[in-house]
Amino acid sequence: MTNSMPDSLDANSFYIEGPDIADAKAPQVPIERRWEERRFGARLVNPANRRKLSVIIVGSGLAGASAAATLGEAGYNVACFCYQDSPRRAHSIAAQGGINAAKNYRNDGDSVYRLFYDTVKGGDFRARESNVYRLAEVSVEIIDQCVAQGVPFAREYGGLLDNRSFGGVQVSRTFYARGQTGQQLLIGAYQALERQIAAETVAMHTRHEMLELIVVDGRARGVVIRDMVTGGIETHFADAVVLATGGYGNVFYLSTNAVGCNVTATWRAHRKGAYFANPCFTQIHPTCIPVSGEHQSKLTLMSESLRNDGRIWVPKRGEDKRDPRKIPEQDRDYYLERIYPSFGNLVPRDIASRAAKNVCDEGRGVGPGGLGVYLDFADAIARLGRPAVEGKYGNLFSMYAQITGENPYQTPMRIYPAVHYTMGGLWVDYDLQASIPGLYVTGEANFSDHGANRLGASALMQGLADGYFVLPNTINDYLADGPFPKVAESHPAAVEAVQAVRARIDKLLSVNGSRTVDSFHKELGRVMWDYCGMERSEEGLRKALNRIRELKKEFWSDVRVLGTNEELNQALERAGRVADFFELGELMCIDALVRRESCGGHFRVESQTPDGEALRDDDEFAYVSAWEFGGDDRRPVLHKEPLVYEYVEMKQRSYK
Ligand SMILES: Cc1cc2nc3c(=O)[nH]c(=O)nc-3n(C[C@H](O)[C@H](O)[C@H](O)COP(=O)(O)OP(=O)(O)OC[C@H]3O[C@@H](n4cnc5c(N)ncnc54)[C@H](O)[C@@H]3O)c2cc1C
Repeated sequence: MTNSMPDSLDANSFYIEGPDIADAKAPQVPIERRWEERRFGARLVNPANRRKLSVIIVGSGLAGASAAATLGEAGYNVACFCYQDSPRRAHSIAAQGGINAAKNYRNDGDSVYRLFYDTVKGGDFRARESNVYRLAEVSVEIIDQCVAQGVPFAREYGGLLDNRSFGGVQVSRTFYARGQTGQQLLIGAYQALERQIAAETVAMHTRHEMLELIVVDGRARGVVIRDMVTGGIETHFADAVVLATGGYGNVFYLSTNAVGCNVTATWRAHRKGAYFANPCFTQIHPTCIPVSGEHQSKLTLMSESLRNDGRIWVPKRGEDKRDPRKIPEQDRDYYLERIYPSFGNLVPRDIASRAAKNVCDEGRGVGPGGLGVYLDFADAIARLGRPAVEGKYGNLFSMYAQITGENPYQTPMRIYPAVHYTMGGLWVDYDLQASIPGLYVTGEANFSDHGANRLGASALMQGLADGYFVLPNTINDYLADGPFPKVAESHPAAVEAVQAVRARIDKLLSVNGSRTVDSFHKELGRVMWDYCGMERSEEGLRKALNRIRELKKEFWSDVRVLGTNEELNQALERAGRVADFFELGELMCIDALVRRESCGGHFRVESQTPDGEALRDDDEFAYVSAWEFGGDDRRPVLHKEPLVYEYVEMKQRSYK
């Protein structure tokens, strides 16, 4: 079979199947001993030799800053890059609700094993057991590390660290700092990073965007960077490269992510040979402020922690348009409490999102366009008093009031699901190494530990686990073979990468068409949301693929990017990112098309039970899909990593 792209839209003709892959790094010992065994088995680099080795880290959010600080402290020469004007502005700062850890401070039956179990089950059995177990194990160390750094976690009356619950679990294991957990954790990581910058083990480059990976003799050896202020194109080389560049939820245009979040770094690495895993696994978060009109460029999350005390409901009858405060109890449907009595409002995000979509599809949604459900605090205020509710959630309530003009202490909030997080990302083995030797990927940028659905408060845990504890223990094993031969700027691989970056920038600036970058992005986002969002069908995905390809062509012939390269040019920055989103969007739809099962929040209409519930297909789809770039206008190659569950029995999830 040739590898060229088909003209027809026959479902199986979009890709080629390659050989299966496997993680070869997790030791074959009982799961509770795997991490210890790997740490012991990984080679070490003695402190004197670390000074001779260099590491590039792209990204200084929680995953990148923690890794840079830790590797700097260990004595490696680290160069760290981010596109913001300060590491403190990474998207991690937006995280509100909290971070999980199996500390069992509440003595409510929590344990490393239970966190592992909840996460595997919550991910709908599409995550790798070894990684998830390690994540649960390391979670307890993260809290100690952050407390030692001075992160001001909320405390109980007696002074102990407080905990709350998040969806998909029945214990309280979420540590938090009011509604600003990400900000406080990031300040902790940032100060550790700053210390290393002052000690000159880390060179920090802000407002520098990575546009290409340099691969020499099959190893990741450097990056091509654009100085976003001057437009200067630079090359940087090292013995290893780490990508900690966050998630790609903005392929949907509207999401809760910061507007700058993008896929460029990981996509460029993918084009150079790194496999992209589970691209279609996107998390739709159930509690976001509903879309209010065409003018919006971003959506706002209302933290999941609100579901601890807020009750979700819609009127029993769609025609009931009364002020919610005037709707009596008997006319309300607390549908999550009704359908899922054991977890109630704390079902996992995928379940809560789909349930909200279902009641809105039935015509019972509230607010403009009927795309909203109520999140009501009247009971909590009556039970706990307003000061207690304000103490826990005050900043979230005021954010809601500022955005909607409504007072959530008096009238229920309106919420609706929105794109929030991407479980897909670059494929990595147990060491967090991608399929290109010397390339490591951490945080949201890797396909990570969350399977088809991430439980709340586990992204911060994973980013910090990767950066503070996992990577610093595994990357040594690779660096022990270094230092590798120096790479000169004149090396053909570097020259080729720089030329590719320049050619792309020139092309974007020379099209001189009639449409703005944003108009293309918006249209792509709409296609992705309609056909590759919460509900997917074979027919819809084919339609989407067709439209994305047309749009991509139109983009390259009709986009208008004003200004020049040699200046601060946000239109140019955005154009490059949107161009990569087109390619990613196509792969996401192909991945979704191939996965003919409903799993996580991804409902495939062809795969449902007779009563309309999501139906997973473990016989066919219990694998990680790891995509190899096939070439421009050529089919991608699918490598499957079969998932084996030795510890958690695979069964249809039930939260009833
Ligand atoms: C509103 C909101 C609330 C959330 N709340 C929670 C929560 O309560 N608990 C939880 O566990 N998770 C939460 N999450 C998820 C969590 O915040 C993120 O998954 C996590 O912070 C990602 O961290 P990261 O370090 O991987 O990436 P980011 O924080 O996104 O950092 C990416 C870094 O990469 C850099 N970068 C990217 N591309 C390039 C490039 N090409 N060149 C140079 N630099 C580049 C950026 O400058 C940045 O420094 C929330 C997410 C959102 C959107």
